[in-house]
Amino acid sequence: MNVYNKMLCSVCESGQIESCIQDLPFEYKGKKTVLPDQIIFKCPECAETFISPENERNIDKYLIDERRKIDGLLTSDEIKAIRKQYGMTQTAFAKMLRVAAKTFARYENGQVAQSYAMDNLLRILRKFPDAISAISNIETKIKNAATALSA
Ligand SMILES: [Zn+2]
Repeated sequence: MNVYNKMLCSVCESGQIESCIQDLPFEYKGKKTVLPDQIIFKCPECAETFISPENERNIDKYLIDERRKIDGLLTSDEIKAIRKQYGMTQTAFAKMLRVAAKTFARYENGQVAQSYAMDNLLRILRKFPDAISAISNIETKIKNAATALSA
């Protein structure tokens, strides 16, 4: 976490960067939110601020989740809980949903927000576990249909 501590500021090239704890305010669609107690790095000379890559990922996840809440989408933790409800790996669940494994992983780690259509599908799967039978093995079903057509 202290990657920048005591480093020379890359902006003014004279200040020595110090870590501090600060609340970070954000605004989305007119709604204000604060991410409390974030470790940031500040140059005492030019006041430039830096965020460690690790902390930046956490902040991004938080922001995407906040935007999801405001947009009426499931959060990354809710998506993970739905997958766990079925006891499936990310790869298997992504395959069943017919999205790339990487894309699904990004829904869960907060890098990318899911579409409204994907969100609806996930909500249906959460509420009606039997609905999974309609989409599981869909590739086999498509293959069988294609075979029937060509016969
Ligand atoms: Zn500086």
